[in-house]
Amino acid sequence: YEKIQMSVDRKDEMAQMALTFNEMMEQLEQNYKQQEQFVSNASHELKTPLTVIESYARLLTRRGFDNRDVAEEAVGAILSESVRMKSMIEQLLQLAKNDELATFQFEETDLFDQIEKTVKPMRQAYARQFDFEGIKDSIVTTDSERFRQLLYIFLDNARKYSDDLVKITLQDEGDSYAIAITDYGNGIPQEALPHVFNRFYRVEEDRNRKTGGTGLGLAIAKQLADGLGAGLKMESISGMGTTVRITIPKRLDSH
Ligand code: ADP
Repeated sequence: YEKIQMSVDRKDEMAQMALTFNEMMEQLEQNYKQQEQFVSNASHELKTPLTVIESYARLLTRRGFDNRDVAEEAVGAILSESVRMKSMIEQLLQLAKNDELATFQFEETDLFDQIEKTVKPMRQAYARQFDFEGIKDSIVTTDSERFRQLLYIFLDNARKYSDDLVKITLQDEGDSYAIAITDYGNGIPQEALPHVFNRFYRVEEDRNRKTGGTGLGLAIAKQLADGLGAGLKMESISGMGTTVRITIPKRLDSH
């Protein structure tokens, strides 16, 4: 686009409007570039598992029919890459859906109950220790389902990236409630911390370890927190563990 050129010493309404217009256009251009980058990253990330699937399917056709070991290896790889690809697509759809703030449904709810409701099935599913301590009757106005999704992302990471217990606390902080999720896993290197909320970002060693992650979880968490008016803070010490702090405002209008 063409920037509107105005003499710098003009301070009248026209000059102000020109300035605002230029700023708006710059913002739009930046959004467009980010969108373009996102589509390009998403295509690349989806293509990677597909390439693996293709080459294992070829191996299966060439050598799998008379060699059981080859067949098992190929089918195993095809299955795990398909599962990963499916979860990536589901997460991409979720990112698109959460972009629509109008789909958020706010209601009065008890955070204590919502946390309990999220943690309980995880204890069952993973036979792991999730310790939850908090104050009862912690009433807020929020989108309960989105809140549980947000919490789940952090609980699931704490579980994935550590072997020990996961600790959850809920505290009253006056205008808001603070939820802390702590794990005692490998932690995140300091230089990686500023990037973990970026779409598709994964710490190098986790990328290599093939834990099946997509790098979209925390990007979704950031988006959900923005929609809920919640604050997020991540602290981590390499080799010691990670703590995530979520703050939920008690009143919706105190966003
Ligand atoms: P992924 O699907 O890879 O888990 P996320 O967006 O949820 O994607 O997380 C991005 C990266 O941040 C992960 O790949 C991992 O390297 C790192 N990470 C997130 N949570 C933790 C944690 N609790 N402990 C250690 N590393 C973590």
